[in-house]
Amino acid sequence: MTPPSIFTKIINREVPADILFENERIIVIKDIKADAPIHYLGITKHPYLNLDDLLTSSNQEKELLWELFTTLASLADQAGIKESGYRIITNNGPDARQVVPHLHIHLLGGEPLNIQDHPQA
Ligand code: 5GP
Repeated sequence: MTPPSIFTKIINREVPADILFENERIIVIKDIKADAPIHYLGITKHPYLNLDDLLTSSNQEKELLWELFTTLASLADQAGIKESGYRIITNNGPDARQVVPHLHIHLLGGEPLNIQDHPQA
């Protein structure tokens, strides 16, 4: 069995985090190693390994993606970066340098972002 990811530990309050939003399906936290003034992570509570895992799963909770995107966009607005702009990305697999094997979407903004920026680079 796969051990619980760091994000599952955060969801279960076994590891602390700055939590910005939470409901029964998703949680949004501040990234511990921010690569921009605003760097949030929108995470599914169900431990999908990544986007591909969700899209190929039998129950295909695709509405979770909508919920993650709309929640992050709303938090971007609250953070005052709606007009200045922001980036939403997900790293899927080794070539994308996905580090945490638990589906999450990065929200980055608050300054002009580098075209080659990668949250782990
Ligand atoms: P990825 O898997 O898409 O490459 O990125 C994982 C992200 O999770 C990284 O940006 C990293 O800084 C963040 N991260 C890893 N461990 C923790 C943690 O314990 N707490 C928080 N808040 N973020 C974390």
